[in-house]
Amino acid sequence: MSTTMTIFKCPHCSAEYEMIMTHISFRQRSYANCQVCWKPMYSWASTRVPRFTLLVQPDNTRRP
Ligand SMILES: [Zn+2]
Repeated sequence: MSTTMTIFKCPHCSAEYEMIMTHISFRQRSYANCQVCWKPMYSWASTRVPRFTLLVQPDNTRRP
């Protein structure tokens, strides 16, 4: 396994994600929206694409 796991913080609402970079066979240009504030938080154009898992939601945007 050559995956790299890091913590990524949304620059807009500071929600914390586990970010795992995975290698794909083609160059992909895309972006990810924050699952909390729905703003684009990360973009890429490469063969290494991230997968995000939400770890911590910021208190001020917690849903009922
Ligand atoms: Zn956010």
